[in-house]
Amino acid sequence: MSFLEYAPAPESRAILSLKPEYGLFIDGDFRPGTGDPFATISPADESHIATIASASEADVDTAVAAARRAFDRTWSKMSGRDRGKYLFRIARLVQERARELAVAESIDNGKPIKESRDVDVPLVAAWFFYYAGWADKLDYAGLGSDPKPLGVAGQVIPWNFPLLMLAWKIAPALAAGNTVVIKPAETTPLSALIFAEILQQADLPPGVVNIVTGAGATGAAIVRHQDVNKVAFTGSTAVGREIAKAVAGTEKRLTLELGGKAANIVFEDAPIDQAIEGIVNGIFFNQGHVCCAGSRLLVQESIHDEVVDRLKDRLSTLRLGDPLDKNTDIGAINSREQLDRIRELSRIGEEEGAERWSADCVIPDNGFWFAPTIFTNVQASHRIARDEIFGPVLSVLTFRTPGEAIEKANNTPYGLSAGVWSDKGSRILAVADRLRAGVVWANTFNRFDPASPFGGYKESGYGREGGRHGLAAYLKGSR
Ligand code: NAP
Ligand code: MG
Repeated sequence: MSFLEYAPAPESRAILSLKPEYGLFIDGDFRPGTGDPFATISPADESHIATIASASEADVDTAVAAARRAFDRTWSKMSGRDRGKYLFRIARLVQERARELAVAESIDNGKPIKESRDVDVPLVAAWFFYYAGWADKLDYAGLGSDPKPLGVAGQVIPWNFPLLMLAWKIAPALAAGNTVVIKPAETTPLSALIFAEILQQADLPPGVVNIVTGAGATGAAIVRHQDVNKVAFTGSTAVGREIAKAVAGTEKRLTLELGGKAANIVFEDAPIDQAIEGIVNGIFFNQGHVCCAGSRLLVQESIHDEVVDRLKDRLSTLRLGDPLDKNTDIGAINSREQLDRIRELSRIGEEEGAERWSADCVIPDNGFWFAPTIFTNVQASHRIARDEIFGPVLSVLTFRTPGEAIEKANNTPYGLSAGVWSDKGSRILAVADRLRAGVVWANTFNRFDPASPFGGYKESGYGREGGRHGLAAYLKGSR
Protein backbone atom coordinates (compact mmCIF):
# COMPACT_ATOMS: atom_id res chain seq x y z
CA MET A 1 0.00 0.00 0.00
CA SER A 2 1.22 3.45 -0.83
CA PHE A 3 0.92 6.23 1.75
CA LEU A 4 1.58 9.04 -0.65
CA GLU A 5 -0.52 9.60 -3.70
CA TYR A 6 1.13 11.32 -6.63
CA ALA A 7 -0.61 13.09 -9.46
CA PRO A 8 1.02 12.30 -12.81
CA ALA A 9 3.78 14.71 -13.86
CA PRO A 10 4.40 13.76 -17.48
CA GLU A 11 7.37 15.14 -19.37
CA SER A 12 6.22 16.48 -22.74
CA ARG A 13 7.13 14.73 -25.98
CA ALA A 14 6.77 18.02 -27.84
CA ILE A 15 10.52 18.61 -27.79
CA LEU A 16 11.05 15.60 -30.06
CA SER A 17 10.76 16.09 -33.78
CA LEU A 18 10.99 12.52 -34.92
CA LYS A 19 11.18 11.50 -38.53
CA PRO A 20 8.90 8.66 -39.59
CA GLU A 21 11.90 6.84 -41.09
CA TYR A 22 15.61 6.82 -40.34
CA GLY A 23 18.37 5.74 -42.71
CA LEU A 24 21.91 4.60 -42.00
CA PHE A 25 24.38 7.32 -41.07
CA ILE A 26 27.36 6.78 -43.37
CA ASP A 27 30.00 9.24 -44.52
CA GLY A 28 28.24 12.16 -42.86
CA ASP A 29 24.79 11.60 -44.34
CA PHE A 30 21.69 9.50 -43.89
CA ARG A 31 21.04 6.98 -46.63
CA PRO A 32 18.68 4.05 -47.12
CA GLY A 33 19.84 0.60 -46.10
CA THR A 34 19.64 -2.39 -48.39
CA GLY A 35 18.41 -4.76 -45.66
CA ASP A 36 14.74 -5.06 -44.60
CA PRO A 37 13.74 -2.01 -42.51
CA PHE A 38 12.37 -2.69 -39.02
CA ALA A 39 10.23 -0.81 -36.50
CA THR A 40 11.33 0.45 -33.14
CA ILE A 41 8.54 0.51 -30.59
CA SER A 42 7.94 1.93 -27.16
CA PRO A 43 8.07 -0.91 -24.63
CA ALA A 44 5.71 1.03 -22.34
CA ASP A 45 2.72 0.77 -24.69
CA GLU A 46 4.00 -1.14 -27.74
CA SER A 47 3.30 1.89 -29.96
CA HIS A 48 5.28 2.38 -33.16
CA ILE A 49 7.99 5.07 -32.94
CA ALA A 50 9.79 5.01 -36.28
CA THR A 51 10.92 2.78 -39.11
CA ILE A 52 14.64 2.08 -39.06
CA ALA A 53 16.93 1.06 -41.91
CA SER A 54 18.77 -2.22 -41.67
CA ALA A 55 22.39 -2.47 -42.79
CA SER A 56 23.30 -5.45 -44.95
CA GLU A 57 26.85 -6.75 -45.28
CA ALA A 58 27.27 -4.49 -48.32
CA ASP A 59 26.15 -1.45 -46.28
CA VAL A 60 28.59 -2.35 -43.51
CA ASP A 61 31.30 -2.56 -46.17
CA THR A 62 30.39 0.95 -47.38
CA ALA A 63 30.51 2.24 -43.80
CA VAL A 64 33.90 0.65 -43.10
CA ALA A 65 35.25 2.11 -46.37
CA ALA A 66 34.02 5.57 -45.32
CA ALA A 67 35.66 5.16 -41.91
CA ARG A 68 38.91 4.06 -43.55
CA ARG A 69 38.95 7.07 -45.89
CA ALA A 70 38.24 9.43 -43.01
CA PHE A 71 40.99 7.80 -40.95
CA ASP A 72 43.59 8.07 -43.71
CA ARG A 73 42.69 11.51 -45.02
CA THR A 74 41.51 13.56 -42.07
CA TRP A 75 41.15 12.16 -38.58
CA SER A 76 44.54 10.50 -38.03
CA LYS A 77 46.26 13.53 -39.60
CA MET A 78 44.52 16.08 -37.41
CA SER A 79 46.26 17.36 -34.28
CA GLY A 80 45.00 16.07 -30.95
CA ARG A 81 44.09 19.62 -30.08
CA ASP A 82 41.74 19.86 -33.07
CA ARG A 83 40.21 16.45 -32.41
CA GLY A 84 39.60 17.65 -28.87
CA LYS A 85 37.72 20.70 -30.18
CA TYR A 86 35.25 18.44 -32.01
CA LEU A 87 34.74 16.32 -28.90
CA PHE A 88 34.12 19.40 -26.75
CA ARG A 89 31.64 20.61 -29.35
CA ILE A 90 29.81 17.26 -29.30
CA ALA A 91 29.69 17.35 -25.49
CA ARG A 92 28.18 20.83 -25.50
CA LEU A 93 25.60 19.90 -28.13
CA VAL A 94 24.59 16.86 -26.05
CA GLN A 95 24.00 19.24 -23.13
CA GLU A 96 22.05 21.64 -25.34
CA ARG A 97 19.82 18.83 -26.61
CA ALA A 98 19.74 16.97 -23.30
CA ARG A 99 16.00 17.08 -22.78
CA GLU A 100 15.28 15.85 -26.27
CA LEU A 101 17.77 12.99 -25.88
CA ALA A 102 16.32 12.02 -22.49
CA VAL A 103 12.77 11.90 -23.85
CA ALA A 104 13.88 9.85 -26.88
CA GLU A 105 15.76 7.42 -24.65
CA SER A 106 12.84 6.94 -22.27
CA ILE A 107 10.35 6.39 -25.10
CA ASP A 108 12.54 3.93 -26.98
CA ASN A 109 14.05 2.05 -24.04
CA GLY A 110 11.32 2.29 -21.38
CA LYS A 111 13.56 3.71 -18.65
CA PRO A 112 12.14 6.39 -16.30
CA ILE A 113 12.69 9.96 -17.45
CA LYS A 114 14.29 10.87 -14.15
CA GLU A 115 17.04 8.34 -14.90
CA SER A 116 17.59 9.27 -18.56
CA ARG A 117 17.48 12.96 -17.60
CA ASP A 118 19.62 12.83 -14.44
CA VAL A 119 21.94 9.87 -15.11
CA ASP A 120 22.27 8.71 -18.71
CA VAL A 121 22.43 11.99 -20.62
CA PRO A 122 24.61 13.93 -18.13
CA LEU A 123 27.06 11.02 -18.13
CA VAL A 124 27.10 11.02 -21.94
CA ALA A 125 28.16 14.68 -21.92
CA ALA A 126 30.68 13.96 -19.14
CA TRP A 127 32.26 11.16 -21.17
CA PHE A 128 32.78 13.42 -24.19
CA PHE A 129 34.12 16.25 -22.04
CA TYR A 130 36.51 13.88 -20.28
CA TYR A 131 37.97 12.31 -23.43
CA ALA A 132 38.06 15.68 -25.19
CA GLY A 133 40.56 16.65 -22.52
CA TRP A 134 42.74 13.63 -23.32
CA ALA A 135 42.91 14.18 -27.09
CA ASP A 136 45.98 16.45 -26.96
CA LYS A 137 47.64 14.66 -24.02
CA LEU A 138 48.02 11.12 -25.34
CA ASP A 139 51.79 11.28 -24.85
CA TYR A 140 51.10 11.40 -21.13
CA ALA A 141 48.69 8.46 -21.01
CA GLY A 142 51.42 6.08 -19.86
CA LEU A 143 51.51 4.27 -23.20
CA GLY A 144 54.90 5.55 -24.33
CA SER A 145 55.58 8.73 -26.22
CA ASP A 146 53.64 9.38 -29.40
CA PRO A 147 51.17 6.45 -29.23
CA LYS A 148 49.28 5.81 -32.49
CA PRO A 149 45.60 5.09 -33.20
CA LEU A 150 44.67 1.60 -34.37
CA GLY A 151 42.54 2.62 -37.38
CA VAL A 152 38.87 1.69 -37.83
CA ALA A 153 37.02 0.63 -34.68
CA GLY A 154 33.97 -1.64 -35.07
CA GLN A 155 31.67 -1.27 -32.09
CA VAL A 156 28.52 -3.15 -31.06
CA ILE A 157 26.40 -2.02 -28.12
CA PRO A 158 23.35 -3.23 -26.13
CA TRP A 159 19.93 -1.77 -25.35
CA ASN A 160 20.17 -1.10 -21.62
CA PHE A 161 22.02 2.26 -21.79
CA PRO A 162 21.79 3.00 -25.52
CA LEU A 163 23.31 6.47 -25.65
CA LEU A 164 25.67 6.03 -22.70
CA MET A 165 27.19 2.87 -24.19
CA LEU A 166 27.59 4.76 -27.47
CA ALA A 167 29.49 7.50 -25.61
CA TRP A 168 31.68 4.95 -23.78
CA LYS A 169 32.64 3.53 -27.17
CA ILE A 170 32.91 6.61 -29.39
CA ALA A 171 34.55 9.17 -27.06
CA PRO A 172 37.83 7.31 -26.34
CA ALA A 173 38.05 5.98 -29.91
CA LEU A 174 37.88 9.48 -31.41
CA ALA A 175 40.11 11.07 -28.79
CA ALA A 176 42.79 8.53 -29.68
CA GLY A 177 42.44 9.27 -33.40
CA ASN A 178 40.46 6.24 -34.60
CA THR A 179 37.37 6.32 -36.76
CA VAL A 180 34.23 4.34 -35.95
CA VAL A 181 31.51 2.08 -37.32
CA ILE A 182 28.98 1.45 -34.55
CA LYS A 183 25.81 -0.61 -34.31
CA PRO A 184 23.15 0.24 -31.71
CA ALA A 185 20.85 -2.53 -30.45
CA GLU A 186 17.84 -3.38 -32.56
CA THR A 187 15.29 -2.34 -29.91
CA THR A 188 16.92 1.02 -29.08
CA PRO A 189 18.36 2.77 -32.15
CA LEU A 190 16.62 6.13 -31.67
CA SER A 191 19.04 8.12 -29.50
CA ALA A 192 21.99 7.05 -31.68
CA LEU A 193 20.20 8.47 -34.73
CA ILE A 194 19.56 11.78 -32.97
CA PHE A 195 23.23 11.69 -31.99
CA ALA A 196 24.05 11.38 -35.71
CA GLU A 197 22.24 14.70 -36.21
CA ILE A 198 24.42 16.16 -33.45
CA LEU A 199 27.53 15.00 -35.33
CA GLN A 200 26.26 16.86 -38.41
CA GLN A 201 25.63 19.94 -36.28
CA ALA A 202 29.17 19.66 -34.88
CA ASP A 203 30.52 19.51 -38.43
CA LEU A 204 32.45 16.36 -37.64
CA PRO A 205 34.29 15.38 -40.84
CA PRO A 206 32.27 12.80 -42.87
CA GLY A 207 33.11 9.17 -42.18
CA VAL A 208 34.70 9.70 -38.76
CA VAL A 209 31.62 8.16 -37.13
CA ASN A 210 29.26 5.86 -39.04
CA ILE A 211 26.13 4.54 -37.36
CA VAL A 212 24.65 1.41 -38.89
CA THR A 213 21.38 0.08 -37.51
CA GLY A 214 20.25 -3.52 -37.82
CA ALA A 215 20.04 -6.83 -35.97
CA GLY A 216 22.69 -9.31 -34.83
CA ALA A 217 23.76 -10.05 -38.42
CA THR A 218 24.77 -6.42 -38.89
CA GLY A 219 26.87 -6.66 -35.73
CA ALA A 220 28.47 -9.87 -36.98
CA ALA A 221 29.31 -8.21 -40.32
CA ILE A 222 31.14 -5.40 -38.49
CA VAL A 223 33.04 -7.79 -36.26
CA ARG A 224 34.13 -9.98 -39.17
CA HIS A 225 34.98 -7.19 -41.59
CA GLN A 226 38.60 -7.51 -42.75
CA ASP A 227 39.33 -3.81 -42.67
CA VAL A 228 38.28 -3.32 -39.04
CA ASN A 229 41.30 -2.99 -36.72
CA LYS A 230 39.61 -3.02 -33.36
CA VAL A 231 36.40 -4.56 -32.04
CA ALA A 232 34.65 -3.30 -28.92
CA PHE A 233 31.56 -5.12 -27.70
CA THR A 234 29.16 -4.78 -24.78
CA GLY A 235 26.39 -7.34 -24.38
CA SER A 236 25.77 -10.93 -23.42
CA THR A 237 28.48 -13.44 -22.60
CA ALA A 238 27.11 -15.81 -25.26
CA VAL A 239 27.53 -13.30 -28.09
CA GLY A 240 30.84 -12.15 -26.58
CA ARG A 241 32.13 -15.70 -26.90
CA GLU A 242 31.13 -15.85 -30.57
CA ILE A 243 32.89 -12.57 -31.21
CA ALA A 244 36.06 -13.74 -29.45
CA LYS A 245 36.06 -16.78 -31.75
CA ALA A 246 35.48 -14.68 -34.86
CA VAL A 247 38.36 -12.35 -33.96
CA ALA A 248 40.80 -15.07 -32.84
CA GLY A 249 43.72 -15.47 -35.21
CA THR A 250 43.27 -12.03 -36.77
CA GLU A 251 45.27 -8.88 -36.05
CA LYS A 252 42.18 -7.21 -34.57
CA ARG A 253 42.31 -5.95 -31.02
CA LEU A 254 39.31 -6.85 -28.86
CA THR A 255 37.63 -5.59 -25.71
CA LEU A 256 34.56 -7.32 -24.27
CA GLU A 257 32.21 -6.01 -21.61
CA LEU A 258 29.81 -8.82 -20.83
CA GLY A 259 27.38 -9.93 -18.15
CA GLY A 260 27.57 -9.92 -14.38
CA LYS A 261 26.02 -11.33 -11.22
CA ALA A 262 27.34 -8.90 -8.64
CA ALA A 263 27.30 -9.50 -4.91
CA ASN A 264 26.16 -6.64 -2.72
CA ILE A 265 27.51 -7.54 0.73
CA VAL A 266 25.84 -6.00 3.77
CA PHE A 267 27.56 -6.44 7.17
CA GLU A 268 25.64 -6.15 10.45
CA ASP A 269 27.40 -2.89 11.33
CA ALA A 270 26.36 -1.22 8.05
CA PRO A 271 24.40 2.05 8.12
CA ILE A 272 21.06 0.35 7.44
CA ASP A 273 19.12 3.29 6.00
CA GLN A 274 21.79 3.95 3.42
CA ALA A 275 22.24 0.25 2.73
CA ILE A 276 18.52 -0.19 1.98
CA GLU A 277 18.66 2.68 -0.52
CA GLY A 278 21.87 1.24 -1.98
CA ILE A 279 20.39 -2.24 -2.37
CA VAL A 280 17.35 -0.74 -4.12
CA ASN A 281 19.50 1.41 -6.39
CA GLY A 282 21.81 -1.55 -6.98
CA ILE A 283 19.17 -3.84 -8.46
CA PHE A 284 16.08 -1.79 -9.32
CA PHE A 285 17.84 1.09 -11.12
CA ASN A 286 17.04 0.85 -14.85
CA GLN A 287 14.65 -2.09 -14.17
CA GLY A 288 17.71 -4.17 -13.29
CA HIS A 289 18.88 -4.02 -16.92
CA VAL A 290 22.38 -3.27 -15.70
CA CYS A 291 25.39 -5.52 -16.28
CA CYS A 292 26.92 -4.46 -12.95
CA ALA A 293 23.60 -4.69 -11.03
CA GLY A 294 23.82 -5.88 -7.42
CA SER A 295 21.60 -8.87 -8.17
CA ARG A 296 22.86 -11.07 -5.30
CA LEU A 297 22.32 -9.56 -1.88
CA LEU A 298 24.64 -11.18 0.66
CA VAL A 299 23.39 -10.11 4.05
CA GLN A 300 24.87 -11.04 7.42
CA GLU A 301 22.56 -13.55 9.08
CA SER A 302 21.96 -11.47 12.22
CA ILE A 303 20.29 -8.65 10.26
CA HIS A 304 18.65 -10.74 7.51
CA ASP A 305 15.05 -10.43 8.73
CA GLU A 306 15.32 -6.71 9.42
CA VAL A 307 16.86 -5.99 6.03
CA VAL A 308 14.30 -8.07 4.13
CA ASP A 309 11.36 -6.48 5.98
CA ARG A 310 12.66 -2.99 5.34
CA LEU A 311 13.36 -3.77 1.69
CA LYS A 312 9.77 -4.94 1.21
CA ASP A 313 8.49 -1.74 2.84
CA ARG A 314 10.69 0.38 0.60
CA LEU A 315 9.76 -1.51 -2.56
CA SER A 316 6.10 -1.03 -1.77
CA THR A 317 6.60 2.71 -2.18
CA LEU A 318 8.25 2.51 -5.62
CA ARG A 319 6.09 3.75 -8.46
CA LEU A 320 5.94 1.62 -11.57
CA GLY A 321 4.51 3.02 -14.80
CA ASP A 322 4.79 5.57 -17.58
CA PRO A 323 8.52 6.16 -18.24
CA LEU A 324 7.79 9.78 -19.14
CA ASP A 325 6.18 10.50 -15.75
CA LYS A 326 8.73 12.35 -13.60
CA ASN A 327 7.50 10.43 -10.53
CA THR A 328 8.16 7.00 -12.03
CA ASP A 329 10.80 4.84 -10.32
CA ILE A 330 10.40 1.63 -12.33
CA GLY A 331 9.81 1.85 -16.07
CA ALA A 332 9.06 -0.79 -18.69
CA ILE A 333 11.08 -3.92 -19.45
CA ASN A 334 12.87 -3.26 -22.73
CA SER A 335 11.32 -6.01 -24.86
CA ARG A 336 8.89 -8.90 -24.79
CA GLU A 337 11.83 -11.23 -25.24
CA GLN A 338 13.58 -9.86 -22.15
CA LEU A 339 10.31 -10.01 -20.18
CA ASP A 340 9.92 -13.68 -21.11
CA ARG A 341 13.48 -14.37 -19.93
CA ILE A 342 12.85 -12.66 -16.57
CA ARG A 343 9.57 -14.55 -16.10
CA GLU A 344 11.18 -17.87 -16.97
CA LEU A 345 14.09 -17.45 -14.54
CA SER A 346 11.69 -16.30 -11.80
CA ARG A 347 9.51 -19.36 -12.41
CA ILE A 348 12.60 -21.56 -12.09
CA GLY A 349 13.49 -19.76 -8.85
CA GLU A 350 10.14 -20.75 -7.33
CA GLU A 351 10.41 -24.27 -8.69
CA GLU A 352 13.83 -24.70 -7.09
CA GLY A 353 12.38 -23.75 -3.72
CA ALA A 354 13.22 -20.09 -3.22
CA GLU A 355 10.51 -17.89 -1.74
CA ARG A 356 9.19 -15.17 -4.03
CA TRP A 357 7.81 -11.79 -3.00
CA SER A 358 6.71 -9.15 -5.51
CA ALA A 359 5.65 -5.59 -4.81
CA ASP A 360 1.93 -5.12 -5.19
CA CYS A 361 1.79 -2.61 -8.04
CA VAL A 362 -0.72 -1.94 -10.74
CA ILE A 363 0.63 -3.31 -14.02
CA PRO A 364 -0.44 -1.32 -17.11
CA ASP A 365 -2.53 -3.18 -19.69
CA ASN A 366 -0.15 -2.73 -22.62
CA GLY A 367 3.60 -2.90 -22.79
CA PHE A 368 6.17 -5.03 -20.94
CA TRP A 369 6.26 -4.84 -17.15
CA PHE A 370 7.65 -6.76 -14.20
CA ALA A 371 7.02 -5.82 -10.56
CA PRO A 372 10.09 -5.44 -8.33
CA THR A 373 10.71 -8.90 -6.89
CA ILE A 374 12.76 -10.40 -4.07
CA PHE A 375 13.67 -14.05 -3.63
CA THR A 376 14.61 -15.24 -0.13
CA ASN A 377 15.78 -18.73 0.92
CA VAL A 378 18.06 -18.73 -2.10
CA GLN A 379 20.80 -21.36 -2.26
CA ALA A 380 24.08 -20.70 -4.06
CA SER A 381 23.24 -23.53 -6.46
CA HIS A 382 19.92 -22.03 -7.61
CA ARG A 383 19.72 -20.69 -11.15
CA ILE A 384 18.53 -17.30 -9.78
CA ALA A 385 21.79 -17.10 -7.80
CA ARG A 386 23.96 -17.98 -10.81
CA ASP A 387 22.37 -16.70 -14.04
CA GLU A 388 22.17 -13.07 -14.99
CA ILE A 389 18.45 -12.26 -14.91
CA PHE A 390 18.88 -8.69 -16.20
CA GLY A 391 15.62 -7.59 -14.63
CA PRO A 392 14.18 -6.19 -11.37
CA VAL A 393 14.77 -9.38 -9.39
CA LEU A 394 16.92 -9.63 -6.27
CA SER A 395 18.20 -12.92 -4.82
CA VAL A 396 18.94 -12.80 -1.09
CA LEU A 397 21.59 -15.06 0.45
CA THR A 398 23.13 -14.97 3.93
CA PHE A 399 26.60 -15.30 5.47
CA ARG A 400 28.03 -15.40 8.99
CA THR A 401 31.69 -14.38 8.66
CA PRO A 402 33.61 -12.06 6.34
CA GLY A 403 35.44 -15.10 4.95
CA GLU A 404 32.16 -16.76 4.03
CA ALA A 405 30.91 -13.53 2.43
CA ILE A 406 34.00 -13.33 0.23
CA GLU A 407 33.79 -16.97 -0.76
CA LYS A 408 30.13 -16.68 -1.72
CA ALA A 409 30.65 -13.39 -3.53
CA ASN A 410 33.42 -14.88 -5.66
CA ASN A 411 31.46 -18.07 -6.33
CA THR A 412 30.30 -17.00 -9.81
CA PRO A 413 31.64 -17.26 -13.33
CA TYR A 414 31.31 -13.47 -13.56
CA GLY A 415 33.35 -10.67 -12.00
CA LEU A 416 32.19 -7.25 -13.09
CA SER A 417 31.30 -5.46 -9.86
CA ALA A 418 30.54 -5.82 -6.15
CA GLY A 419 29.40 -3.74 -3.21
CA VAL A 420 30.42 -3.70 0.45
CA TRP A 421 28.42 -2.04 3.22
CA SER A 422 30.06 -1.61 6.61
CA ASP A 423 30.78 1.10 9.11
CA LYS A 424 34.36 -0.12 9.40
CA GLY A 425 36.83 1.23 6.85
CA SER A 426 39.42 -1.47 7.53
CA ARG A 427 36.86 -4.20 6.88
CA ILE A 428 35.80 -2.57 3.61
CA LEU A 429 39.39 -2.43 2.38
CA ALA A 430 40.20 -5.98 3.48
CA VAL A 431 37.08 -7.42 1.81
CA ALA A 432 37.38 -5.32 -1.36
CA ASP A 433 40.92 -6.55 -1.78
CA ARG A 434 39.76 -10.15 -1.99
CA LEU A 435 36.75 -9.66 -4.27
CA ARG A 436 37.39 -10.80 -7.83
CA ALA A 437 35.46 -7.97 -9.48
CA GLY A 438 36.49 -5.09 -11.72
CA VAL A 439 34.68 -2.46 -9.66
CA VAL A 440 33.99 -2.56 -5.92
CA TRP A 441 31.69 0.09 -4.47
CA ALA A 442 31.90 0.87 -0.77
CA ASN A 443 28.74 2.13 0.98
CA THR A 444 27.30 3.06 -2.40
CA PHE A 445 26.41 1.27 -5.65
CA ASN A 446 26.07 1.92 -9.39
CA ARG A 447 28.18 5.08 -9.41
CA PHE A 448 29.90 5.94 -12.69
CA ASP A 449 32.55 8.46 -13.56
CA PRO A 450 34.42 8.90 -16.84
CA ALA A 451 37.76 9.06 -15.01
CA SER A 452 37.24 5.65 -13.43
CA PRO A 453 38.04 2.45 -15.38
CA PHE A 454 35.27 -0.15 -15.67
CA GLY A 455 35.47 -3.77 -16.82
CA GLY A 456 35.39 -7.39 -15.81
CA TYR A 457 37.20 -10.45 -14.55
CA LYS A 458 36.49 -13.97 -15.82
CA GLU A 459 33.34 -14.32 -17.97
CA SER A 460 32.50 -10.64 -17.53
CA GLY A 461 35.02 -9.87 -20.26
CA TYR A 462 38.36 -8.16 -20.67
CA GLY A 463 39.74 -4.71 -21.27
CA ARG A 464 38.78 -1.55 -19.43
CA GLU A 465 36.56 1.34 -20.48
CA GLY A 466 36.82 4.77 -18.89
CA GLY A 467 39.75 6.67 -17.50
CA ARG A 468 43.27 6.57 -18.81
CA HIS A 469 42.94 2.77 -19.06
CA GLY A 470 40.15 3.21 -21.59
CA LEU A 471 42.58 4.88 -23.99
CA ALA A 472 44.86 1.84 -24.05
CA ALA A 473 42.20 -0.09 -25.94
CA TYR A 474 42.41 2.39 -28.82
CA LEU A 475 46.14 3.09 -29.07
CA LYS A 476 49.28 1.31 -30.19
CA GLY A 477 51.76 2.22 -27.51
CA SER A 478 55.52 2.05 -27.76
CA ARG A 479 55.85 0.90 -24.14
P1 NAP B 1 23.25 -9.43 -27.09
O1 NAP B 1 22.48 -10.38 -27.92
O2 NAP B 1 24.60 -9.79 -26.64
O3 NAP B 1 23.26 -8.04 -27.86
C1 NAP B 1 24.24 -7.02 -27.73
C2 NAP B 1 24.52 -6.41 -29.09
O4 NAP B 1 25.14 -7.37 -29.96
C3 NAP B 1 23.27 -5.95 -29.84
O5 NAP B 1 23.59 -4.81 -30.61
C4 NAP B 1 22.99 -7.13 -30.73
O6 NAP B 1 22.20 -6.83 -31.84
C5 NAP B 1 24.40 -7.52 -31.15
N1 NAP B 1 24.56 -8.89 -31.62
C6 NAP B 1 23.73 -9.95 -31.46
N2 NAP B 1 24.27 -11.05 -32.02
C7 NAP B 1 25.46 -10.68 -32.55
C8 NAP B 1 26.50 -11.38 -33.24
N3 NAP B 1 26.42 -12.68 -33.50
N4 NAP B 1 27.60 -10.70 -33.62
C9 NAP B 1 27.73 -9.39 -33.35
N5 NAP B 1 26.77 -8.69 -32.70
C10 NAP B 1 25.66 -9.31 -32.30
O7 NAP B 1 22.40 -9.10 -25.81
P2 NAP B 1 20.81 -9.15 -25.74
O8 NAP B 1 20.22 -10.26 -26.51
O9 NAP B 1 20.31 -7.81 -26.02
O10 NAP B 1 20.64 -9.49 -24.22
C11 NAP B 1 20.78 -10.82 -23.77
C12 NAP B 1 21.41 -10.87 -22.41
O11 NAP B 1 22.68 -10.21 -22.48
C13 NAP B 1 20.69 -10.13 -21.33
O12 NAP B 1 19.70 -10.87 -20.72
C14 NAP B 1 21.81 -9.83 -20.40
O13 NAP B 1 22.04 -10.92 -19.58
C15 NAP B 1 22.99 -9.62 -21.28
N6 NAP B 1 23.28 -8.20 -21.53
C16 NAP B 1 24.36 -7.66 -20.94
C17 NAP B 1 24.66 -6.34 -21.15
C18 NAP B 1 25.80 -5.68 -20.53
O14 NAP B 1 25.83 -4.46 -20.47
N7 NAP B 1 26.81 -6.39 -20.10
C19 NAP B 1 23.84 -5.56 -21.96
C20 NAP B 1 22.75 -6.15 -22.59
C21 NAP B 1 22.50 -7.47 -22.37
P3 NAP B 1 20.58 -6.90 -31.66
O15 NAP B 1 20.20 -5.86 -30.65
O16 NAP B 1 20.04 -6.55 -32.96
O17 NAP B 1 20.26 -8.28 -31.21
MG1 MG C 1 12.47 0.50 -28.83
